Amino acid sequence: MAPEKPNEMIFDLHSHTTASDGELTPLALISRARENGVACLAITDHDTIDAYGEFDCDLIDGVMLCPGVELSANWHGRSVHVVGLRIRLESSSLLKELEAQQNSRVERAEQIAGRLEKKGFDHAMEGARAFAGGDNIGRPHFAKFLVSIAAVRDERQAFKRYLGRGKIGDIQRGWPPVASVTSWIRDAGGMAVLAHPAHYRLTNTKLGVLADEFVEAGGTAMEVVSGKQSPELTRKLAELAAEKGLLASTGSDFHRPGAAWSELGRQTALPSHLKPVWDAW
Ligand code: AMP
Ligand code: MN
Ligand code: MN
Ligand code: MN
Repeated sequence: MAPEKPNEMIFDLHSHTTASDGELTPLALISRARENGVACLAITDHDTIDAYGEFDCDLIDGVMLCPGVELSANWHGRSVHVVGLRIRLESSSLLKELEAQQNSRVERAEQIAGRLEKKGFDHAMEGARAFAGGDNIGRPHFAKFLVSIAAVRDERQAFKRYLGRGKIGDIQRGWPPVASVTSWIRDAGGMAVLAHPAHYRLTNTKLGVLADEFVEAGGTAMEVVSGKQSPELTRKLAELAAEKGLLASTGSDFHRPGAAWSELGRQTALPSHLKPVWDAW
């Protein structure tokens, strides 16, 4: 076995808190990051940077914070996610766009609720809102609501039956084009990273087109690693990143304790021949 490089730092550049659909508060997330040996953490909540409001410096509890966000976007009718790293949190243009994303989330949630209510699940909006604890509302909050009324066994089943791809709660309209969100990130001084490319279930050809268009739109990096993944997938995404000239990012996409494949800082190692996104910092 090859010896580990000394002082190898753990970067986790994709994670969620209670400010979106994560289950830990920002402070609890950071203390878990420290326990797990993470040296540099990006909190990347869906369409919000509210988690960062709790901190007034970038080194907390020995963990270096990298200001981030995960933006929802539309690519030829599909929703894709773009992570912004090292964004200026006080950027007024970014804050304005995030507010618009929040409004889209509420509008979309109302549509989802309407469809669920037609299926007989009353008070879906209030139910989901209670789980969201505010306006940053997403499908996982509807999933929690459906579990709470025993309409489904667990959140997985809620996605499978009602919220996942092609189901009634999967509303694709409303997100801005990829080129818009990359420009918001760049205008806020950040780097745009194509999140979890394997989640979109694209053919290799289409994934190549997405990567090309992402580069054209000003994207800088892609997540070669997202959580624990197979060596084949890592190899395939490493090749894609190298071919398209994208830097390599890595993150767990942590949402909650207990999900072993997305434990904070425990994602698959990034192949050492790739140029990591932090080399450009
Ligand atoms: P939204 O932001 O409302 O589009 O919801 C997307 C979020 O739902 C993702 O970030 C995941 O946290 C979660 N999610 C997506 N698919 C599933 C699934 N099949 N099971 C459980 N959670 C999921
Ligand atoms: Mn999520
Ligand atoms: Mn995502
Ligand atoms: Mn995520």
